[in-house]
Amino acid sequence: MYPPEFNYVKPNTLEEAIDALSNEGAVALAGGQSLIPLLKLRVVSPTVVVDINKLPFRYVKYGEEVEIGALVRHYELEESPCGLLSQTARNIGDVQIRSMGTVGGSLAYADPRGDWPTAMLAGGAVVKTAAGWREIEIDQLYRGPYVTSLNRGEIITSVKLRCPPKFSYVKFSLRRGDFPIASVAAAAWVKDNHFDYVRIAASGAAEMPVRLKKVEAILQGAPLNRDVFIEAAETAKKEAAPPHDFRTSAQYRKALIAVAVRRALEKL
Ligand SMILES: Cc1cc2nc3c(=O)[nH]c(=O)nc-3n(C[C@H](O)[C@H](O)[C@H](O)COP(=O)(O)OP(=O)(O)OC[C@H]3O[C@@H](n4cnc5c(N)ncnc54)[C@H](O)[C@@H]3O)c2cc1C
Repeated sequence: MYPPEFNYVKPNTLEEAIDALSNEGAVALAGGQSLIPLLKLRVVSPTVVVDINKLPFRYVKYGEEVEIGALVRHYELEESPCGLLSQTARNIGDVQIRSMGTVGGSLAYADPRGDWPTAMLAGGAVVKTAAGWREIEIDQLYRGPYVTSLNRGEIITSVKLRCPPKFSYVKFSLRRGDFPIASVAAAAWVKDNHFDYVRIAASGAAEMPVRLKKVEAILQGAPLNRDVFIEAAETAKKEAAPPHDFRTSAQYRKALIAVAVRRALEKL
């Protein structure tokens, strides 16, 4: 399929990009790995495509927090010293998708199966934006499948988080290199072999990536041992309210979430 006709601009500055995106029907283009297929399938028909790739958002800054520019490609994080970033990046799609797709694009697109939204939810990330010029806690970013709290024309410029000392990501896909049908990300701060602070997020457990707060409550302050992990997995099975779709049933997803929670905790 060929995309519908649209105008194309590639602004040199953030101000120009914000101006271009303020137009009705304008859409940002980052890695194009979601937008281009949508254009070809004619799911979207923008009046103008605003290519944001000249903007200075392709950097990673490590410090007390790690800040990732929105235009960082997935592959650029595969060797990151922050386990959340390397594990998540390596799990995404295939080489082509990882070469072109961006962290900011994945977060903004809000695909309910996206790996970054789930991992960043577990990591307690904060998204920085231009035009809105605000910081949005990741727990406040997602409103539903493909729906965020970003306003029209608002661009994600970076995402930052305190890199969790322990992190694991378990993803179940129908085939290698595909989106997950269920995945679980676990981020933990551990003291004397007990969970000091823990966040568990999942895709496939609801209509969009969510935190499993009942599982987190079981784990908080608990020791890291097999009995606790099994109790957490059983709780996850009850807490998950997965969608049923053509890929798999809700019941199967519940079982996968439980296994993914146990494995993610064992891998910490
Ligand atoms: C075959 C295939 C397999 C895939 N497998 C996976 C997978 O296993 N896991 C996974 O997580 N993803 C997967 N993806 C999606 C991939 O990760 C995309 O890169 C990602 O969803 C979108 O990022 P992008 O940079 O390509 O965004 P684009 O396609 O350029 O844009 C997507 C949307 O986000 C908006 N946008 C982009 N950047 C910004 C920004 N900075 N601020 C505000 N809005 C912005 C655009 O306007 C557009 O609406 C797959 C894609 C394909 C085609």
